[in-house]
Amino acid sequence: MKTSPFFKSAAVLLTALALGVFLFVRVAVEAHAPAYDLLITNARIVDGSGNPWFRADVAIKDGRIERIGHIGPETAARTIDARGQILAPGFIDVHTHVESIYSQPAAENFVRMGVTTLVTGNCGSSTTDVAEFLGRLKEKPIAVNLATLIAHGSVRRKVMGLGDRAPTADELKQMESLVEQGMKDGAVGLSTGLIYVPGTYAKTDEIVALARVAGRYGGLYATHMRNEGDKVADAIRESIQIGEQAGLPVEISHFKISNKKLWGQSPMTLGLVREARARGLVVTVDQYAYTASSTSLESRLPSWLRAGGLDEAKKRLADKATRERAVNDTKEALKRSGFKDYSFAVVASYGPDKSFNGKSIAAITKEVKKKSDITSQIEQMLEMYEAGGAAMIYHGMDEDDVKLIMQEPFTMIASDSGVRQVDESVPHPRGYGNNARVLGHYVRELKLISLEDAIRKMTSLPAQTFGFRDRGLIREGFAADLVIFDENTIVDQATFDKPHQFPLGISYVIVNGAPVIENNQMTAARPGVALRGPQIPQFTQKSVDSAKSVNK
Ligand SMILES: [Zn+2]
Repeated sequence: MKTSPFFKSAAVLLTALALGVFLFVRVAVEAHAPAYDLLITNARIVDGSGNPWFRADVAIKDGRIERIGHIGPETAARTIDARGQILAPGFIDVHTHVESIYSQPAAENFVRMGVTTLVTGNCGSSTTDVAEFLGRLKEKPIAVNLATLIAHGSVRRKVMGLGDRAPTADELKQMESLVEQGMKDGAVGLSTGLIYVPGTYAKTDEIVALARVAGRYGGLYATHMRNEGDKVADAIRESIQIGEQAGLPVEISHFKISNKKLWGQSPMTLGLVREARARGLVVTVDQYAYTASSTSLESRLPSWLRAGGLDEAKKRLADKATRERAVNDTKEALKRSGFKDYSFAVVASYGPDKSFNGKSIAAITKEVKKKSDITSQIEQMLEMYEAGGAAMIYHGMDEDDVKLIMQEPFTMIASDSGVRQVDESVPHPRGYGNNARVLGHYVRELKLISLEDAIRKMTSLPAQTFGFRDRGLIREGFAADLVIFDENTIVDQATFDKPHQFPLGISYVIVNGAPVIENNQMTAARPGVALRGPQIPQFTQKSVDSAKSVNK
């Protein structure tokens, strides 16, 4: 059948009409659909750069900061009125130990202090399967963004166990290839823990070899140095030397002076870093805002005793003469540290007897042995080590050193904490209060540094150092990791006696555009993503500098 021209043109007309109606409806709907997912108004913005605060609205779409300016509330699906509060980039905590984060995906102790990104794998201890570790985030969402270092101690342990010896050429090659795989899988650098087993048995050249691999992939070298006490200056020099020889940036972890005889020497230790920077080397440090550190009990015992791990050490301690040698060496170390006994050493967590938690070694020795001499205290420590060891808090630093280190432009703020389980043991309060303590105590109460500078140390400086190119600043196009807090009320509540207390004054924490803290309450959102390093070989700064000097 033939269609008449009339019907043909009517059909065309109807189709055109229908299309027109469809387009009209679509345009109308789009005009009414909000342009942004979230709008934050009326805040004073401290943008992470260190510049003075300014006032603007911040609009977020698809997890990114889309616009900064004067923006009408009708343009957003949701508006947060942050009147009277500070809006800052989410805090980036570059020194954490959160290998267990998937079992506590809310990471509440971090989120509650405004932290939106964690770097783990520090102090020589990490996963040796970076691809698997970061990949797990897809099935097990977490509240914060996650990055990891590949750790020397874990790699060494995997290749050559816990022994006190140098690697063979073949073992070194194996370690290099594990580091290389870690970097290809997205690690942001290499970490060491040179007081721990087995990292403590590595000589400088071994670390240089592995750091060189990390550097080739654009990573940095983050180190818990060989010594933070009587030989701290040598340890800083070694860290700088490793960075220089391997051609990569150096991050000195939890920068401190834990030797009482060297209290007040931070101008000298900071000077070593400044001098390296003046020579063109990239060296930075991080710090937590307390005069006590926290690590294992065994780190106070001689490294020869700990070779091979606990079972080997127990065998050694069963021999009377060897035990005596261990006591004497520990006594010498105490003498060098400048402390008269172990009253500065407090148990955070001791499995076999929880009543020890929160008490000093001196107090425990008095209780158990009815004695107060040093030998008895060391004997008590050895017995606790043999029974499985303990996590400790060491009140070993001077407040003036903490302050001077905090004032240094290249110092960032990091907690050195793990993910905490509320009311489990008596851990260091830094895992609950660190950022809030800086903002409440050191910025507001002591006026030691400005609010803007403190925020810079928690945001853009860590982002720059660890290569998070689209985080750490409030900029259009950057990831919408944000924190809203009241600078007049923010305060850490965690103390050494009662550490399990969240800070006050932080009302919103936003990760990739989604609030994880909303009106001071934790939400169910788990918007964290894995942050990976460059993963491919990089053109390093060192090759640029040496090329220049050749041309001269
Ligand atoms: Zn450490």
